[in-house]
Amino acid sequence: MTALKIQVNLTDSKKEKPLSDHLEFGRVFTDHMFSADYIEGQGWTNHRIEPYAPLQLDPASIIFHYGQTVFEGLKAYSSKDGTIKLFRPEQNMKRLNQSSERLCMPLVNEELALEGLKRLLEIDQEWIPTAEGTSLYIRPFIIATEAYLGVSPSKKYKFMIILSPVGSYYKEGIHPVKILVENEYVRAVAGGTGMAKTAGNYASGLKAQQVAAEKGYAQVLWLDGIERKYIEEVGAMNIFFKINGEVITPALNGSILEGITRKSVIQLLQHWNIPVTERKISMEEIRTAQKNGLLDESFGTGTAAVISPIGEFNWKDEKLVVNNGEMGGLSERLYNTLTGIQTGKIEDPFGWVI
Ligand code: PMP
Repeated sequence: MTALKIQVNLTDSKKEKPLSDHLEFGRVFTDHMFSADYIEGQGWTNHRIEPYAPLQLDPASIIFHYGQTVFEGLKAYSSKDGTIKLFRPEQNMKRLNQSSERLCMPLVNEELALEGLKRLLEIDQEWIPTAEGTSLYIRPFIIATEAYLGVSPSKKYKFMIILSPVGSYYKEGIHPVKILVENEYVRAVAGGTGMAKTAGNYASGLKAQQVAAEKGYAQVLWLDGIERKYIEEVGAMNIFFKINGEVITPALNGSILEGITRKSVIQLLQHWNIPVTERKISMEEIRTAQKNGLLDESFGTGTAAVISPIGEFNWKDEKLVVNNGEMGGLSERLYNTLTGIQTGKIEDPFGWVI
């Protein structure tokens, strides 16, 4: 592997760090950031770590008008022995490139991007909170920076990584959430950009999320964009159901984002010899299973919450309660195992943590 040449310019005024019990999600940023610039014909250049600061961009930059951008989300944990732990970061870099491919953006060298991230983490490592459940959230992203109002792929880009200390997702303990099944709006359709982590998917999801929140629901359950029958994702998480002992998650179909937590849950279940199937699953099937007392558990999976148990679905004004609204045993086992592996508290038989 060629070592990455990174120019480092350290800040001379370090910021005050927030107290670990005051941490929110994504509001405070560390002292430094990583950047690289892409120019067509030259490739990625000018890799650097510098003090965290606002950007100066031309108002005509393509990102502002046509949303040519991709991003990732992962976490660093500080382990008992004081080392920095990352959970499957190579998977995030791989997915970053898969997203870029869909958005006609240049790929990054995955190994070098990871090296840049590690250097940034070393520099800002005192920002990794240590209290139970806390972590340093990592946001790599690429934006199109060419000043041009024509609708075409940009010839210039900026790749950046910023870091944000975040509190425990479950400050008040894990409580199953209520989910509103979305029948009007859709998140993505096969052939669209659902399988890419790009800004537009999140902007277009805000409306449904707002309506659900007003009605007292934590998230929306997204159905397929054509028949509005099949289950896709829950909020910004993948979804799993345990029906009569079998675990089922919607199969990847081009409109679902392939979560790294999803992939890890499937591998863990296989490791435990618990039957797990990736297939199409309809809301009607969930309703029938619930009516017959066979819907044992349901939970969302994602980097932020890891496992988010679901206590109720509202589908067309019918309330389908799951496991008496309580967290199920499998959800709890998965949560404890994944967070244990991530923080180095329990052995990692898969080599996921580096
Ligand atoms: N689906 C969507 C739409 C997401 O934004 C995320 C979060 N990245 C996920 C699923 C879960 O992915 P991961 O497990 O990699 O965090």
